[in-house]
Amino acid sequence: MDIILDLADQHGLDSVYKHFPEVLEPYVSSRNHAFRQCLSLWLISLVGVNILYFLFSTLSYYTLFDQRILKHPKYLPNQIWREIKLSVTSFPITALVTVPWFFFEIRGYSKLYKNVDEWGWGYFAFSILAFLAFTDCGIYWIHRWEHHPMLYGWLHKQHHAWKVSTPFASFAFHPLDGYFQSIPYHLFVYLFPMHVYAYLAAFVIVQMWTISIHDGAYFTQHPAINSSAHHTVHHLEFNYNYGQYTTLWDRIGGSYKRPTKQFEEEMFFDRPAGATKIDAVKNVLQDAQRVPLGNVKSDGVRERKGAALAACD
Ligand SMILES: [Zn+2]
Ligand SMILES: [Zn+2]
Repeated sequence: MDIILDLADQHGLDSVYKHFPEVLEPYVSSRNHAFRQCLSLWLISLVGVNILYFLFSTLSYYTLFDQRILKHPKYLPNQIWREIKLSVTSFPITALVTVPWFFFEIRGYSKLYKNVDEWGWGYFAFSILAFLAFTDCGIYWIHRWEHHPMLYGWLHKQHHAWKVSTPFASFAFHPLDGYFQSIPYHLFVYLFPMHVYAYLAAFVIVQMWTISIHDGAYFTQHPAINSSAHHTVHHLEFNYNYGQYTTLWDRIGGSYKRPTKQFEEEMFFDRPAGATKIDAVKNVLQDAQRVPLGNVKSDGVRERKGAALAACD
């Protein structure tokens, strides 16, 4: 972050602080004053997260997002506008509570390093894998903890307003929800050495991944990857698939749910050419209605009815 802070000072913030009221001059005239550094880090975080959010969400919306989701029965009126509104109103607070992580980082308390030779290329590659493994685990447990009844209502429920999500839902959280789920990213570099550019790149890629699991583009049905299909199950059914990149911790924690056969085959992969996901939901519902619940004997049929209810309740 010190690299970005230096660039921001040189190319804008120095002149911005010159226009601050005289009473604040002792706090903002020196680049090294803690108040100015914290204020600058907040501004940089706020601008950065807005750029990442609007750039990648918009790109995803126009390139990957299946826009037929906009006609899904569970798509809320003005949902995209509501997702954007929650995101941009949360960003200032999320950025504010994140400032201490960045502040102590530029003061040298983290284990970020700038010279690859310090740890070598082998460790450079390993640290990226370790970062992904660490954050995959951390986010799983924080997310699962946020579903505890004592926390869910005030902390995480806002993100579950979106039963079917768009890329703009990816950052649409209560400010502290977004912050808590980001803690593993910040904590990692205080515990383990990581090259500063690898960290910055990983940070951006992680944001893109978070958008990708909300874009409704079901590229993969690989059971090891927490894909958009898996995260859609989480939004629809709450108690499954808390993971971020992989399904590892859901499997260990007993919360893994592969998108059901019907969910995958009919809603995502096997639908006839031209059929929409909505058609698929209707098909599943119609099938379920043909089988009275009391007469359900086969697990397959029972599962089919469950899938229909989950998709459309
Ligand atoms: Zn989500
Ligand atoms: Zn959740």
